[in-house]
Amino acid sequence: MERVDAIVVGAGIAGASAAYALAEHLSVALVEREAIAGYHTTGRSAALYTESYEKGPVQLLTLASSGFLRRPPDGFTTEPLLSPLPVLYVATEEQRATLDRIVTEVAGRTELRLVEGDELATLCPALRTDRIIAGLLEPAAHEIDVHALHQGFLRGARRRGTTVWLDAPVVSIERSGGRWNVQAGERSFTAEAIIDAAGAWADEIATMAGVAPIGLTPMRRTAFTFDPEGYDLSGWPIVVDADERFYFKPEVGQLMGSLAEETPMEPCDVRPEEIDVALAIQRITHATRFQIRTVRRTWAGLRTFAPDRLPVVGAEPAAPGFFWLAGQGGYGIMTSPAMAQLITALVTGHEPTPELAEVRQAVSPARLR
Ligand SMILES: Cc1cc2nc3c(=O)[nH]c(=O)nc-3n(C[C@H](O)[C@H](O)[C@H](O)COP(=O)(O)OP(=O)(O)OC[C@H]3O[C@@H](n4cnc5c(N)ncnc54)[C@H](O)[C@@H]3O)c2cc1C
Repeated sequence: MERVDAIVVGAGIAGASAAYALAEHLSVALVEREAIAGYHTTGRSAALYTESYEKGPVQLLTLASSGFLRRPPDGFTTEPLLSPLPVLYVATEEQRATLDRIVTEVAGRTELRLVEGDELATLCPALRTDRIIAGLLEPAAHEIDVHALHQGFLRGARRRGTTVWLDAPVVSIERSGGRWNVQAGERSFTAEAIIDAAGAWADEIATMAGVAPIGLTPMRRTAFTFDPEGYDLSGWPIVVDADERFYFKPEVGQLMGSLAEETPMEPCDVRPEEIDVALAIQRITHATRFQIRTVRRTWAGLRTFAPDRLPVVGAEPAAPGFFWLAGQGGYGIMTSPAMAQLITALVTGHEPTPELAEVRQAVSPARLR
């Protein structure tokens, strides 16, 4: 049995970032069921960094991640992690009040600007400005290079001495002599701390450890790509319906579209439903001049939420040494640096930075017990 200080379960962005941050202080084993790290939700996101999409504690975690994403530590990556991608929330006449609500909720933490008339068409020439009458622009939003960020965390964790075990499904977790004994594939580990970063399966991992589930719900969200139909996409924002009933964003030579749906599911290797793609196409073509006759690629991912939609980060009150790093919903990439820093402070017993101390109670699993 290999002896380490901490075992991290799941090598998506949550587990990889946690292993990276923890490994600065502790010996860590990172175990992943799949042969490829990032196979599940992490590899299926829209890759957006936005300070207006989420409010309250999640917005604070996003802001607290910004420094790392803008200026990662030396040697972390050779690629810039962020490239500019403004967000444009768009509204029909009936949705105008929703734009006001977004401004109020964002509460001045990031710049949002009202856009109307010709400027809408300049920002996104495909928009039907007879139907879309106003928009809110977040000019400072970005696209995240998720692959570079995720690989940077994994590479950095390895450099700090962490072993990343792929093809290593956790099948049993037992508590004995004040330690957690974990069977992961062919290997066994013993550690004082276990960090549950298993995404949609986080409740399953807790149950295996004899910890009551938190009530996480994985929700399917479908995405697809389509041709730009002659439009030059350079400088386009991501266009998000004010009530989040669809969005589309420029990718390399393509557009990515989504229905932005939330369909509760059991944890699984989720696949897209044709009906969700069809409905998204209907809504996008209603708001734009796109025809969308050909869909290039479709996929779906699970966004996993706690009952109050806030992340679950911290020690399980009923089980010493069991830590949650779960419920990252639709914001787990852009908040990963700050969440990793917070879980590391809580596992190692260090005082979190003041900005993280501010959200500590709000995201603690104790709030749900
Ligand atoms: C369509 C879509 C768009 C999104 N857009 C954005 C966005 O723009 N910005 C943003 O910040 N976020 C976005 N998200 C959300 C983001 O992708 C997630 O919050 C994040 O990827 C969650 O990471 P994770 O590591 O918790 O989960 P995962 O990546 O799913 O990782 C969990 C890992 O745990 C492993 N695991 C499970 N059980 C076991 C076991 N028994 N043993 C070993 N390993 C196990 C799994 O195999 C998996 O690899 C989006 C998500 C979707 C689906």
